[in-house]
Amino acid sequence: MAQQFAPMPDENGYFGEYGGQVLPPELKQIMDDIDRAYEEIIRSEDFRQELALLQSDYTGRPSPIYHARRLSEHLGGAQIHLKREDLNHTGAHKINHCLGEALLARYMGKTKVLAETGAGQHGVALATACALVGIDCEIHMGQVDIEKEHPNVTKMKILGCKLVPVTRGTATLKDAVDSAFEEYLKDPQHFFYAIGSVVGPHPFPKMVRDFQSIVGREAREQFLERHGQLPDLITACVGGGSNAIGLFTAFLEDESVRIVGVEPAGLGLDTPQHAATLTLGSKGAIHGFECYNLQDDQGNPLPVYSIASGLDYPGVGPQHCYLKDIQRVDYETATDQECLDAFMTLSRMEGIIPALESAHAVAYAMRIAPAMQPDQHILVNLSGRGDKDADFVAEKLKL
Ligand SMILES: *Cc1c(COP(=O)(O)O)cnc(C)c1O
Repeated sequence: MAQQFAPMPDENGYFGEYGGQVLPPELKQIMDDIDRAYEEIIRSEDFRQELALLQSDYTGRPSPIYHARRLSEHLGGAQIHLKREDLNHTGAHKINHCLGEALLARYMGKTKVLAETGAGQHGVALATACALVGIDCEIHMGQVDIEKEHPNVTKMKILGCKLVPVTRGTATLKDAVDSAFEEYLKDPQHFFYAIGSVVGPHPFPKMVRDFQSIVGREAREQFLERHGQLPDLITACVGGGSNAIGLFTAFLEDESVRIVGVEPAGLGLDTPQHAATLTLGSKGAIHGFECYNLQDDQGNPLPVYSIASGLDYPGVGPQHCYLKDIQRVDYETATDQECLDAFMTLSRMEGIIPALESAHAVAYAMRIAPAMQPDQHILVNLSGRGDKDADFVAEKLKL
């Protein structure tokens, strides 16, 4: 099995038939420069030491694994354990790759880091990393999202990034992507476009995976140390797929470990209101790479929806597409309703309020645990905390 994963991606950035660089030649050149710089720094002892120190003293790594005893007992089946990425500085796994990207941008002598943000999670993590590293940061955000996501907007301002409101189109995420990308194209030699998941052209799916893979490396070691065995099943939610691949990578060659990614089924897979890209999508190109897509007959991205705004993307990381095709990872779904139930259950049984994104993975664990034995173990990547979602859920459930 080792053979299947070792050289991923190949030198052209492909995971099987997914990934690559669907870009004009000038931009390919720039992406290849980024790849070269990345391969250089990850081999440099100075960089490794700087990143390791930030991971421990700044982010607070290693994040613990917590055995959710009350929840497990309540469900009456397998033991559920949580990898606590919610305890990281800034409250989610995103800081893991944002630190890496900001350090790389500084190493390459870039003058400005650019990105779009939807709900503001990527924006806040990136603005944090840029403040720390001392590099200018510019975040493009739809006006509609700016009005909805007040706390994150305020944080980005305090952190010193330049926030660019986008009023064109529907003034949401897709328009913010277009706007940020236009700004990037003005000077790609000097600007760095920091992609927020394992998506986009090569080398981003590889780089973001590598920066996130610390999650699985820690978890595998922690679990072995504590329980003397590996978990029977590991699971994580999949939007673009960064927290999932971060957990999965260290376990891919452990044949006894079942691996499950959980996509948002929104209002139901029989409605257009979901973002279950791997479950219902077809192969196509989006934002500079090839992957499963939710697209119309002409290959245009379909509008997607999830109660968790971090999961509503019509494409998905190319490595997940490959892992689905070779059947190493299974992809399941959870609806908005299951997500809300898991959100409330985890909060009230364990005193842990999860992000709505992470609650999709908790929902799947809650569904499968009763069908497993009490001496079996499920490890869930709790990708983030739910502070950002608390008001929304309280209003929705009329608490
Ligand atoms: C952004 C986000 C996600 C979704 O992104 P992935 O790249 O699929 O991990 C999941 N959980 C949290 C808490 C997030 O902020």
